[in-house]
Amino acid sequence: MDSYRTYCYGEKGEISLILLNSPIKNGLFGMVRSPLFSCDIGVHLLQKKQEAVDLAGAYVAKNGQLMVCVSPAIYRGSVTPIFLSVLFHELGHCFYGHVHRPSESSDERRVGAVENGNVLTAELQADVFAVKYLGKKRVIDGFLGLLRVIEEEDGQEVSAKELRLRIQAIEGNA
Ligand SMILES: [Zn+2]
Repeated sequence: MDSYRTYCYGEKGEISLILLNSPIKNGLFGMVRSPLFSCDIGVHLLQKKQEAVDLAGAYVAKNGQLMVCVSPAIYRGSVTPIFLSVLFHELGHCFYGHVHRPSESSDERRVGAVENGNVLTAELQADVFAVKYLGKKRVIDGFLGLLRVIEEEDGQEVSAKELRLRIQAIEGNA
């Protein structure tokens, strides 16, 4: 039995996603490999404690290793439109260098922007990256699914509003 599966994305298949059948150390369950990135990017399942903070994030570890973390609400063991759209959004942050240490957060600016009906440029850029490699339809399908997940959770009104604004922005782009 295979212990991992490989998927390729992008017109030239330039982004490979290698998924393990089950998470190993530190919730690591996958790896993204592409000439677009200077190193492989680990894909981790968020631990319970971090999960309360965010559904997903792109981070740089102390040793410089890039990592994408997603909550169990996003990855349930299979490749779904929700998982892919979230993963590629986070890869967009990796690509543009919008990564930070796990302890830092840009939440205040982000919440302020959303309250005024705006989305931070970094978030829009990350979505453009996702659309480039997954296609518009797949990203919008994924984000509509994600919106339903977010709406089921308490205290996520700002995230839901931001996601609706982001979907509108993707739909508005040619
Ligand atoms: Zn983001």
